[in-house]
Amino acid sequence: MNISFDLDSTLIPNGDEFETEKRNFLGKILGVEKIRKGAPELIRLLQTDGHLINIYTTSFRSKRKIRNTLRYYKIEVTRIVNQTENEKVLKLNKINASKCPKLFNFDLHIDDSKGVGLEGEKFNFTTIIVSPSNLNWTKYIENEVDRIIFK
Ligand SMILES: [Mg+2]
Repeated sequence: MNISFDLDSTLIPNGDEFETEKRNFLGKILGVEKIRKGAPELIRLLQTDGHLINIYTTSFRSKRKIRNTLRYYKIEVTRIVNQTENEKVLKLNKINASKCPKLFNFDLHIDDSKGVGLEGEKFNFTTIIVSPSNLNWTKYIENEVDRIIFK
């Protein structure tokens, strides 16, 4: 599947809401952001299983900055959609929602926002909504991905 991940409060913490991977001093001065503990391993596992991994965020961070952070943790993604691109495409398609993964050919979108989950029901796209406080978040996503594939 072509899978997209949200960034804020899903892979990148807002404050101290979840544990993060180690980041050294150099990483910090190079502007690398903290990433959720277990994220690099989860993404590599999904890629090994044959899935394409993408980032789909409503943040205006540049794609270069996002790729820089991901590369520090040895994560390579297929595509990055930031809010600059998202706004354009939603507008062109006259979709009144914060996100619409289908417009980017993402089969499954993973996010922390219950609102995005509701948009999925309304606009008929598949989501996994994972809470920032879920300590077993990687296992939860693995199980949900399996459930979605085999249903
Ligand atoms: Mg979020």
